[in-house]
Amino acid sequence: MKYIVSYGGGVDSTAMIFKLVQDKEPLDYVVFADTGNEHPETYFFVNNYMKPYLESKNITFVIVYPFKKRSLWTRCFQRKVIPDMLQRWCTRDVKVKPIHKFYKTLKSDIIQYMGIDYQESHRMKPSGENWITNSYPLIDHKMNRNDCIKLIESLGFPVPVKSGCFFCPYNSKARWSELKQNYPALYKLAQVLETNNKHQSQTLIRLTEKDEISLCDGVCMT
Ligand code: SF4
Repeated sequence: MKYIVSYGGGVDSTAMIFKLVQDKEPLDYVVFADTGNEHPETYFFVNNYMKPYLESKNITFVIVYPFKKRSLWTRCFQRKVIPDMLQRWCTRDVKVKPIHKFYKTLKSDIIQYMGIDYQESHRMKPSGENWITNSYPLIDHKMNRNDCIKLIESLGFPVPVKSGCFFCPYNSKARWSELKQNYPALYKLAQVLETNNKHQSQTLIRLTEKDEISLCDGVCMT
């Protein structure tokens, strides 16, 4: 049996790793599926905080990639599509498949720790594979989002930003506004993707109150 964190780089999965280590729970690997298009802050946090932390605890950190290392943006551009909130093909292709491919190399049953907090317990679900069992430590410990933030801060780490691709269709209005203001080049890339989309009835960028949606962290959890 192997014990593995499916790591998104956001608050919940970061706090879950700290909690597992604190409680001396079994943990063999932390796996991060890199879409090639995470927010710059996420890459900074992963490289400068999480990787060194895991090294110090002798926990193996693994990065997996989709599409032979082409980014999700490139994949979308080449196919003239955008991520689809209804079909969720991007989550499946850039997160679930590369992670499961890595799991299979281990030739073992897997306990997959999922960083979903107590307030989000309705999002618990089976893995869909009889050799992968999902486990939800934050829910077991009744840890909500604030508890996660407190744990991260108590250990002296900065609180990571919400994880996900910079052009994720689940972005809230505030997140799109932040992207436009702080990373105009990335915002431009999102615009390019939207313009390039062959299904012009679909939209990606939401900057009006009417279109605002706000979804929980870890939308891409496997
Ligand atoms: S973060 Fe958004 S765009 Fe990226 S894979 Fe997940 S659902 Fe798709």
